[in-house]
Amino acid sequence: TEEQAMFFAKADKYLMRTGVPFSPTIIVKAKGIRLFDVNNRQILDFTSGQMSSLLGHSHPEIIEVVRKYVAELDHLLSNMITHPVVDLAERLSRFLPLPLEKSFFLNTGSESTEAAIKIAKLYTGRFEIVAFAASYHGLTQGSGSATYSAGRRNGGPCIPGQLAFPAPYGYRSPFRKPDGSYDWEAEMDFGWSMIDCQSVGSLAAFIMEPILSTGGILEPPHGYLQRMSIECKKRGMLIIMDEAQTGVGRTGRMFAFEHGNIVPDILALSKTLGCGLPLASVSTTAEIERGCKEAGFLWLTTHLNDPLTAAVGNKVLEIVERDNICEAAAEHGAQLREGLLRLQKKYWCIGDVRGRGLLQGIEIISDAKSKAPGIELGQAVCDRALTCGLSCNVVNLPGMGGVFRLAPPVTVSAEEIEEGLEILDKSFDFVLQ
Ligand code: PMP
Repeated sequence: TEEQAMFFAKADKYLMRTGVPFSPTIIVKAKGIRLFDVNNRQILDFTSGQMSSLLGHSHPEIIEVVRKYVAELDHLLSNMITHPVVDLAERLSRFLPLPLEKSFFLNTGSESTEAAIKIAKLYTGRFEIVAFAASYHGLTQGSGSATYSAGRRNGGPCIPGQLAFPAPYGYRSPFRKPDGSYDWEAEMDFGWSMIDCQSVGSLAAFIMEPILSTGGILEPPHGYLQRMSIECKKRGMLIIMDEAQTGVGRTGRMFAFEHGNIVPDILALSKTLGCGLPLASVSTTAEIERGCKEAGFLWLTTHLNDPLTAAVGNKVLEIVERDNICEAAAEHGAQLREGLLRLQKKYWCIGDVRGRGLLQGIEIISDAKSKAPGIELGQAVCDRALTCGLSCNVVNLPGMGGVFRLAPPVTVSAEEIEEGLEILDKSFDFVLQ
C-alpha cells in the first residue's frame, strides 16, 4: 500500500543502517510464538526473536512482573541493593554447580562477555584470550575481538593477545578420516600446538560457547570439552562459558556445559535469561571474585543490577523450573530434529542436521557429491520461508554452507513444530524446482 511504501521511505531516510538489511515486512505484534505483520499475516517465530524469547513473546506472567516493577521499583543508583537482584543471584546459584556461586547482572551478551574477559585478565594477571575460529561473543571492542565470525572485521586493530582455535566443525574438518570419522583429538592437538607457539606466555582464558550457535550450530563431540578443560588447567587458563543462546534450558539441560561434563570458571548468560528483555549475568567462584577484586576489578555500568530486569529474570527461572522447560526443550527438540531428518532424506541440498534440544541447525550444500557450501541456496530457502510465514535465519561463515538456525521458543507446541516443518518443506520444494 501507499502507506507502507511511505513507512519504508521514512525508515530509509532516518533509521541508520547497522550492517543488517531491513526486513521486507513491518511487524506490528508479537505474541507467543507468532508474529503479526501490518497486513495481519502470521509468521511463526523460529528464532525466538534474536534467540532470546525463550518462553515466547509477551508471556502473561512476565507482563505482570514488568507492570509491577516499572510502577514500583524500576532503576536505582547502581550500588543500591534490592530484593529482586539478591533473589536472582541466590536463585541462579541453586542451578549452578559449585564452585560457581556469585553473580552480578547487566544488560547484554556483549557486556557480559566483556566483563568476563576483564575478570579473567585481572584474576590471572595475564592478557591472552583464546576463542574458536567460528566464535560469536559480541561486538563491543573486547568481546568483538574474540568474535571470529564477525566482530574482528570492524576496522582497526583488535585488543592485543587474541588467539584463534579451530572450531569443532566435524562436518568439514580437515581432520576427517577416510572412514568419515572426525579425529577431533588430532585437531585439538594441532590447535593447542598453534596456541602454544603463538602465545607470548600470557594465556588468561579460553572463551567458548558449549555449542557454537552463530558459528553454525557446532556441538563439540563427546569428550571434547573435558579434554579442553584439562588443557586449559594445564596452562593456568580459565574457561569462560558464554551461554547467551544455550543457557536456561534451550538445549535440554539448564546449561549446555552440563552435556560436556565440565564446570567453567566464569559463566556468562544473556538473551534467554531476560526472555527478550535486556538482562545478562556473569557468575563465577568466590575465589575468582576475591582475586579480581584484589586486582582492582571495577564494573559500574548504568544498568548494573537493575531491579526491574532482575525481577523478570527471577520469573523466567521460576517458570523454567516449574514448567519443566528443560524436558520440554528436549522433547520438542527431538520432534524438530526428526522432522529435519525427514527433510534431509527428501532434499539433497541438506548436507547435515545437527544441534541439541531446541537449538537445531541444517547445513545447506550446493552439490550433493562435493558437498560444496550452498550459501545462496540457503538464503533463498530462508527468504521463501519468511514469505510463507516462517521466520528462521541462516548464518554464513567462510567455508560453510548457509546454516539454518531453528530455535523456536520452548513453549512451542507439537502442532506448531509440524506447521513450521511444513513451511520449510514447501520452501525447499519451491526453491529447488
Ligand atoms: N554471545 C553469544 C553466544 C551470542 O550469540 C551473542 C549475540 N548473538 C552475544 C554474545 C552478544 O550478545 P548481545 O548481542 O546481547 O550483545
